[in-house]
Amino acid sequence: MKTDVDVLIAGAGMAGVVAAIAAARNGASTLLVDRAIFLGGNATGGLLGNFLTFHNLKGEQICDGISQEIVDACIELGGAFPENRGHLHNAYGNTYSVTPIDPEVLKLVTQKLCVEAGVRLMLGSFMVGPVADGETIQGIRVVNKSGEQQLLAKVVIDASGDADIVAKAGGAFQMGDDAGKTMSISLLARMGNVDLDRHLQYVKERPDQFMLGEDPYIGKTRQEVASELTDWKDFPMVTGYYEAVKEAQAKGEFHGSRERILFSVMPTPGVVIVNSTSMLGYNPVDAQSMTQAALEGREQTFAVAKFFQKYVPGFEASFVLDSASALGVRESRRIVGVDTLRTDDCLAGKKSDQDVGRGAHCLDVHEPSGKIYHKHIRDGESYGMSYWTLVPQKLNNLLVAGRCLSSERYANGSARNQAHIQAMGQAAGTAAAMCVERSITPREVDVATLRERLQEQGAVV
Ligand SMILES: Cc1cc2nc3c(=O)[nH]c(=O)nc-3n(C[C@H](O)[C@H](O)[C@H](O)COP(=O)(O)OP(=O)(O)OC[C@H]3O[C@@H](n4cnc5c(N)ncnc54)[C@H](O)[C@@H]3O)c2cc1C
Repeated sequence: MKTDVDVLIAGAGMAGVVAAIAAARNGASTLLVDRAIFLGGNATGGLLGNFLTFHNLKGEQICDGISQEIVDACIELGGAFPENRGHLHNAYGNTYSVTPIDPEVLKLVTQKLCVEAGVRLMLGSFMVGPVADGETIQGIRVVNKSGEQQLLAKVVIDASGDADIVAKAGGAFQMGDDAGKTMSISLLARMGNVDLDRHLQYVKERPDQFMLGEDPYIGKTRQEVASELTDWKDFPMVTGYYEAVKEAQAKGEFHGSRERILFSVMPTPGVVIVNSTSMLGYNPVDAQSMTQAALEGREQTFAVAKFFQKYVPGFEASFVLDSASALGVRESRRIVGVDTLRTDDCLAGKKSDQDVGRGAHCLDVHEPSGKIYHKHIRDGESYGMSYWTLVPQKLNNLLVAGRCLSSERYANGSARNQAHIQAMGQAAGTAAAMCVERSITPREVDVATLRERLQEQGAVV
């Protein structure tokens, strides 16, 4: 079967979802494809539990538009906190704000917004490669319950996270560090029956055990930050428990790849999302390697849950509600684009008239060794993401959106975060619709006009 649409989005993670909504709202007939049977990618299937980050360290909102609409719709359904448009202040301080999002509510919200915009969906469909005439992409091939299908489109957006379409079309990409090694992979899990008041009491007793006030703009000691916490919502993303982790590691009760644990609070009472497994040395685009990572992840998940029950105050009677239906891949392919997001430009908070979105998350790289590296954007600023980082160097009729953007590795450690990949999605979807409307290719898009349209539609460029 062949399907002809204007814009086809390959991958329904949050970059793909936002791209699809943007393309459809801008008049393109749009098809969104994914192997899962729900939308949201790592934010839903990966049980992420939050979006980072809508603000720079000075507290200015640098991401808006469709991504904020998604948060607003989650608030309506009880899947995000109603305070401050869903954004809670992040006492941990790796960002100014954190936006907790219930993954189940997000599945429904993304689906509703896509359907309302007129996006057609094809789920349960694995994308095996492009349909191409030389370097010109004409669509993609999928395998699903119906067999193998060709889906044709005027413009394709590769939002697979792994740049699967770019790679299989022969486009240039980079992966990992100089040796090709990538960041750790994690399997996230939801735990229920947690006493968060008891947990907060412990934070106040032992602030030395937590990352608190890492943001230099907070300008306070850990003790001062802890003394101001009055509700568990004041510390929505918790990381620490150094002594407990060390003790458990010495007894063989906790894996050796992390020196601290991390969990995020949810709008659902007594429920948290635990992000504390860490699988090192796997190849995210190799099926056998990912199988082994999945097996290790499941073993680690139960060991980590036991650690929480034994060592973390408030978790004594907690239990594993569920684990993610997809492995959390932090890093894989980064395309080589017409332009590349550079680490120095991120740190300097660079602005340009080619920017179609902004990023403000600190550089956040989980090294292949397991060590976590953080570096903040200078002066609490945000940096620009140029349209040309979404345009592959050689292939035609193809854009990317999401963590596979053209970027240096440490810059990717920032831009890969949710608010930023959603901004890229809005830009790529709008650009693709403009290509169809004007019968031009992604390379011929006038960025000034694209920026104007994005701003009219609520985005921050
Ligand atoms: C463990 C972990 C923790 C993180 N923590 C945070 C955090 O706290 N806050 C934050 O904001 N960000 C966090 N991130 C980063 C963020 O979640 C990701 O970078 C983001 O999800 C990337 O979005 P995306 O849309 O590009 O890709 P994805 O979310 O990965 O979506 C890609 C989609 O494409 C589909 N797909 C891929 N290949 C195929 C194929 N061949 N056929 C069919 N479908 C396919 C997938 O099913 C998926 O739906 C974390 C990431 C990880 C892995």
